[in-house]
Amino acid sequence: MPQAFVVGLTGGIGSGKSAAADMFADLGAALVDTDRIAHALTGPGGAAMTAIRAAFGNGVLTEDGALNRAAMRALAFESHDARKRLEGILHPMIRQESERQCLAASAPYVILAVPLLIESGTYRERVQRLCVVDCPEAMQVVRVMQRSGLEESQVRAIMAAQASRAERLAAADDILDNGGTLDALREQVSGLHRHYLALAATAKGL
Ligand code: ADP
Repeated sequence: MPQAFVVGLTGGIGSGKSAAADMFADLGAALVDTDRIAHALTGPGGAAMTAIRAAFGNGVLTEDGALNRAAMRALAFESHDARKRLEGILHPMIRQESERQCLAASAPYVILAVPLLIESGTYRERVQRLCVVDCPEAMQVVRVMQRSGLEESQVRAIMAAQASRAERLAAADDILDNGGTLDALREQVSGLHRHYLALAATAKGL
């Protein structure tokens, strides 16, 4: 169990998690981002690449030794077993590294950003507080299409594989409504930041 006061931050794809996480970090929270950790693990020379190469061969590697995401996605899409094997390699490494970063953090509290936090029992056990970034589904679709160039049906398929909006809201201690402007989001983040500073101070007996 990490010593730091850890706030889990989650939300559906395109809800604005990364935007909110960066705002918390700007205010002085430590940011531990499992997406970023996964990218580092699977980048050139990343700590997961030896095991990934052993499991799937050179076909899922780029020339510089990083994970070829398109090739891996195609393989994982075709084969449930391949996806499970990839998760079996990556998930424990992500968990371990995120825990290490939480423990090493010296900020008053940690924002642990996990896209699939609601779906994963282990992360829920590790956070003292759960903050959900929320916006209407139609807005998620537009934001992701603009960001990634995916088609609406592809975005909807990703959303269908995630927890529903209602499930996320039901699990939340705090909700950031990101149905408005980024300035409106920043204002809410600022209010929650003050709240988390107070909660963290109480938890540490300060
Ligand atoms: P997530 O990390 O949840 O997938 P992001 O924070 O990356 O979502 O946001 C998805 C996209 O929508 C990004 O391009 C981001 O800049 C944009 N975005 C997020 N919130 C807003 C907002 N309130 N107004 C306009 N664009 C936004």
